[in-house]
Order: sequence, then C-alpha cells, then structure tokens
Amino acid sequence: MQEVKRSDMNEISSHLEKIKELYNMPFLDLVFQAHTIHRQHFNPHYIELASLLSIKTGGCPEDCAYCPQSAHFKTNLKKEALMDLEAVITEAKRAQERGAKRFCMGAAWRNPSTKDFPKVLEMIKAVKLLGLEACVTLGRLDASQSEALKEAGLDYYNHNLDTSPSYYQKIISTRSYQDRLDTLEKLRESQIKVCCGGIIGMGESQEDRKMLIAQLASLPTHPESVPINHLIPIAGTPLEKTSPLEPFEFIRTIAVTRIMMPKSVVRLSAGRTNMSEEMQAFCFMAGANSIFLGDKLLTTPNPERDQDMELLCKLGMKSHPNLALEKC
Ligand code: SF4
Repeated sequence: MQEVKRSDMNEISSHLEKIKELYNMPFLDLVFQAHTIHRQHFNPHYIELASLLSIKTGGCPEDCAYCPQSAHFKTNLKKEALMDLEAVITEAKRAQERGAKRFCMGAAWRNPSTKDFPKVLEMIKAVKLLGLEACVTLGRLDASQSEALKEAGLDYYNHNLDTSPSYYQKIISTRSYQDRLDTLEKLRESQIKVCCGGIIGMGESQEDRKMLIAQLASLPTHPESVPINHLIPIAGTPLEKTSPLEPFEFIRTIAVTRIMMPKSVVRLSAGRTNMSEEMQAFCFMAGANSIFLGDKLLTTPNPERDQDMELLCKLGMKSHPNLALEKC
C-alpha cells in the first residue's frame, strides 16, 4: 500500500468506520438519509451542468489502466496537439449556449510543459471573459503553476484520487497516490477550488470504494466538486473486459459520498450512457446534483444534450437555479 501522510490516518480510520455502517444500511434507508442531507444543503430540483473539452488528446506518458489516452496502450484514439485558442473559445461559446455553467478543459499530460502552459492560461482567461466558470485538468502541478492558474482566474482544478491507495497500484504505476495528494495541497494553497473524485467499477472491492470515500472526506477541506465516474471499458486498455458494477452498488456509493461530503457538489460523471434513466434518477435522489453536458467526455461517450434535457423535464428538475423547470 502506498504511504499516505500519517497525520491523516486517524481521521481516515474514523471516517472508514462511519462509511462501513452506511454501506451496511438497508438500501432505501441509506438513500432516504442521503436525500434528507442533500435537501439541507441544496435545491433538490437543480442539476448543475458542466461541459468538458479535450484540449490536447492522447499520447499521455502516464499508464492509467482505464484511459484510452495513455501512450502505453493501443487504442483507436487519434492523437491531437494542443488546440488553438480560437477553437477553444468557439467550443466554450457553444457550451454556454447549450446551458453549461462551467467549462472544463482537459489535457493528456503528466504535467503542463513550459511551452504549452502559457497557452492554457490564455484559454482560462478567455473562458472567464465569456462569463463561464473555468476548470482545467492538466496533471501534476508545481507551486508556481498553481499560483499562475489562480492569477489567470481559474475557478476549479480537477485532479481525481481515482480509487483506494491499495487498489491504485493495480491501476497506475507512473504517478503515486502521494503525488496526487501533493497537487491537491498546492491547489488549496493557491485557493483554487478542487474537483476530486474517483472511478468505480474498475474491478475494485467494496472495501476499496469505502477507502476512496474515506480519503476524499479526510482531505483538509472537502472538494467543492466530487465526480463519481463509472468505468467505461475501452478496447485496448487493460480494463477493457471489466464487468460493470451492480447498479444498486453504484447508487449506494453516490449516497455514501453525499452523506460524507454534505456540502460538495456530487457529479454523476462518466458512464451515464450505460445507465437507464431510472438509475440516473435514483442517483439524483441519492445526492448527485451535477452532470456533464455534451455527447463526449474528453474521449468517451456521453448522452446527447436533448436526452439529458428530456430526462430533467420528466423528473421536474431544472438546469439553472433561477430558471423555471425544464419544459417538456
Ligand atoms: S487519465 Fe489523464 S493522466 Fe492518466 S493516462 Fe489518461 S490522460 Fe494521462
């Protein structure tokens, strides 16, 4: 097991005890508790919409076993260099017109290079000028990069813990768990909001899922945004033959996440194309209150916008806190 800073261990253990009790609750009692807590902190009819664009695709030196963008695996993915500023602005405007509140930009890097980093800073400034919230995911950061992102106006940085520290070793060998915690610490020092969650259904045990939530809940400040992804197995990656998680177990994980981090926005992220509308509705009931909008999440499929709007409409939910419910 990779080493986690010792000062955090007591808190992680006490969170783990509570999480075990929650996972053992009857399913409906757990969802009821999660929904009650959700209503104490959020408008239960509002689902936040974010949009995610891959600004540099493929050829990543990291070996994340789930990822088609890793240079270690042979997938059908077409590599693409860093996008031009104008092209990014066009995509951001499109996302805004379609209802996105936040525009997230992801680059398949171990860390941003000296050459490309200034270009990303320009993209952040341009997104902010449109009136959108800006989020990026660029890999590992040093302190000066984190400060520069803050100065450019960045609102959120996405950097997931992915899974438990022990299962992590089966998923990634090129970047340590501690590296991830260190980057999260730098973001907090720069006062950038954190988007940090994980991927479940990668073949991990329930114990690993409990530990992932305990790790997230034990960060010095809860992430403002917690994406919970369901693995999309991609041909050519080591996880291509992984069986999907049982739907109730997925919903249970959303509910426990909501209870353990009551004020965080919980995003139902990758994997929604394989979920029924009923399952997504149950996830909203269990405390998920954000989704990605658009037919692609970096490089993996996502439901079409119209499908999502139709679902929100059927459920009597809305995509902006100040708007009326979606019209059917
Ligand atoms: S998940 Fe990110 S860091 Fe890992 S291989 Fe994919 S692009 Fe690279």
